[in-house]
Amino acid sequence: MTDQALVVFDGVVKQFGGFVAVERMDLDIRKGEFLAIMGSSGCGKTTTLRMLAGLEAPSQGEIRLAGKRINDLPTWQRDTPMVWQSLALFPFLTVRENVEFSLRMRGVDKADRRRRVGTWLERMQITEFADRNVAHLSGGQRQRVALARSLVTEPEILLLDEPLSALDAHLKVRMQTVLSNLQKELGITFVYVTHSQSEAFSMADRVVIMSRGRVEQIGNPQEIYRAPRTRFVAEFLGSSNIFAGQVSAVTGDTVRIASAAGEFHVVRNPAKPLAKGDKATFVVSDDRVHLANQPPSAGLNGLQAVVVGEEFVGATAVVHLEAADGTEIKAQKSHDELEQLNLSPGAKVWVTWRADAGHILPGA
Ligand code: ATP
Repeated sequence: MTDQALVVFDGVVKQFGGFVAVERMDLDIRKGEFLAIMGSSGCGKTTTLRMLAGLEAPSQGEIRLAGKRINDLPTWQRDTPMVWQSLALFPFLTVRENVEFSLRMRGVDKADRRRRVGTWLERMQITEFADRNVAHLSGGQRQRVALARSLVTEPEILLLDEPLSALDAHLKVRMQTVLSNLQKELGITFVYVTHSQSEAFSMADRVVIMSRGRVEQIGNPQEIYRAPRTRFVAEFLGSSNIFAGQVSAVTGDTVRIASAAGEFHVVRNPAKPLAKGDKATFVVSDDRVHLANQPPSAGLNGLQAVVVGEEFVGATAVVHLEAADGTEIKAQKSHDELEQLNLSPGAKVWVTWRADAGHILPGA
């Protein structure tokens, strides 16, 4: 456990009957950080959050909050409010009554309640709706009420389960800014479960990637993007070209890996010592490969591939290609570059990259 850990999952397992939903989780959540938990559907994200909220009890292991074991502490006795997609606002109460609710439950006196509710209504810019029934609010307004209701007690940690997934794209981005600013301003620890890579990567200090009940990788967005630990993470992020093969030579700083698509040089990864004959998988992210009509100059990696199609993603486009052995390749390019290359489906091009653009997966 680090000094800064507010929450510690220490060997936590969660089983539902014979089914293991969370498999031995060891995770420190730092005080004041914005931690996003991502992973495919059913990988155990919500279960992890619910254990922290006290809505599920771990089957094994210990969860500590500020150094104290909270495994058996009921929800209402821990300061871990949760905001989720369906919000669960009280439908027959007004905005003010919803926000005031948990202060009432804690026996906070009336004057203090009014003051604190007033501050939060202001902060979330919902004062003008204070006396409106929550049923008569827009999605974004309801989201602000839910946040005010959870934060009015000034908890040390806020749990958010896909809170923005029901909002339209524009509102989503706006609420991301609201959440991000709020978290920085208050210094509260946020634990945020999401399917959305763009949400996680734009807001979080650290991201946890889970698969089938296991943590695959924890790191800041940059680290995870540039240096995925496992094949699952690389595939999950979807922006990497993946090559698996066998080490044919180790020379100086680089390793030569023979894959079905060809033999390529990759810089060594200190986290994965390799010797000739070892199996190895490396990735090259789609923004680090180049497309050319000429074969590469000496020292560069290269393979010939056929253009399958282009996918427009705003300012850039992703060109999908296929190597002779069927390996799928992606290259992210600006529209200007594409215009110059003048590619059409079926065209043969060279895909090139430098040895240091490759990253050997330590966990695969
Ligand atoms: P999603 O992104 O789809 O919400 P998730 O990663 O949040 O998925 P969880 O809700 O944590 O996944 O569920 C993890 C696994 O545990 C799933 O296979 C789910 O069906 C199972 N599970 C969750 N709650 C229960 C329960 N109460 N009883 C039995 N199985 C459960």
